[in-house]
Formats: sequence, C-alpha cells, structure tokens
Amino acid sequence: MIPTVEYIQKRFDEFNVRYFGGQLPPVPVKLSHAKGFLGKMCYTRRKQGLFRGYKNEDFQLRINVRIDLPETVVEDTILHEMIHYFIAYNNYHDTSTHGQLFRREMVRINAEGAHHITISHRLNETEQAQAHLHKGRIVALVHFEDGQTGVKVVPKQIKHILYWHKAALRHFPIDAINWYYTDDGYFAKYPSSIALRVFLISDPAELPLTNAHRLLVTDRQVRLQVNPRNNLRW
Ligand SMILES: [Zn+2]
Repeated sequence: MIPTVEYIQKRFDEFNVRYFGGQLPPVPVKLSHAKGFLGKMCYTRRKQGLFRGYKNEDFQLRINVRIDLPETVVEDTILHEMIHYFIAYNNYHDTSTHGQLFRREMVRINAEGAHHITISHRLNETEQAQAHLHKGRIVALVHFEDGQTGVKVVPKQIKHILYWHKAALRHFPIDAINWYYTDDGYFAKYPSSIALRVFLISDPAELPLTNAHRLLVTDRQVRLQVNPRNNLRW
C-alpha cells in the first residue's frame, strides 16, 4: 500500500492510545519520496537557558511513499518512529539511537500487538534490498491480442524498461504487458536485450512467477510492488 497523510494520522492516533497511553501530542505528517529511508522522526533540539539542558520541539513524522509496501511494514515503520518520538518528546535519555530504552519499548509493543518492529536502520535495510535487486532479472510477460503469450528479458535499467514498454506497445498488437522482477534462474535462458523480439510460450501458467515481485510500468515510471511471499527485506 501507499499510505496517505490521513491513513498515517489515523494509525498514529490508534497506536498512541493503545501503546503510549494517549500521551503523545499529534504530530504533523509529511509524505516523502526521498531515497534511503522508510520513516523518520525529525525535530529540533533547543537549549533551555544556560544551565537547564535541552528541549526537543517542532516534531515532524516523515513516511516514505516511494515504494509500495505491505501494510504491516507501514505499521511497523509508524511504530518505530513513534518510539523515537516517545523518547525525544519526554526527553528521556537512551544509551544510543536504538539503545536500551528503544529496545525495551520495541519488545513491549511487539509483544502486546504482535508487531515486528526492528531496530535495524531503515536506510541499511533499503540499501540491502537494492543490492539484492541487482542479482535478479526483469521479465516482461507479453499478452498479444490473438491470445498468445510471450516472454522478454530486458536489462535492469529503468530507461530500458520504459523504452521497451513503449516501443513494444507501438510495434506489436498487444493486450497487456505484465512486468516482473525475479531471481529465478529459469529465465537465464532468455537473452537480456532491448531488441523487439518476444519468445512465444505455450503454457504461461507454468512460468515460475508466483514469488516474483511485480513492476508497475507506466509511460514515465517504474514502481516495484513487493511480493510478501518473497523474503526480500526492506
Ligand atoms: Zn530508528
């Protein structure tokens, strides 16, 4: 799912009552398309006079909407950021960014609500996922108007996917092109190129694509839709 501001605020209110005794004040939500993180709790730390320490304020919850993710991952991301908010808002001291206090809250909420919040930095997880992507293949399943189906493997670059998608739709009588990202070795036998050549297949239902991730391709963009059955981590 791609969450909206309203959705995030609704879940925030719900989690606030359920896990934080309703003590957290509402926080402005901003949707982000930046690369490298799923969620972020931003705030400023201001010095309170000469000897009185610091106060955290101007909180803003940023949630990334660049990637279509399963709802549970969106929930865990909101909760992860809410723990940061809980600690910073109360000015609690923790041993590190995801220190003892953060972990204690994480373990408590995971147990109370059957969530799967993790401490690993979202940036690293995304980087890992992107590294993982480099091993796979981009496969187009081409459905022709006459009922035939064909396979085409395209190099793993967005410009090639966009080019091939548009060129094939112009060039062939096509009903639909479904795009997949897969690391299944089955597709190694097809040459990877941008040539307008499609390999017809007799039984498309037997292609090993059930665990593949879908790619949503339009005129201008390619979006990865994560398949929850595949253990690709974010
Ligand atoms: Zn964090």
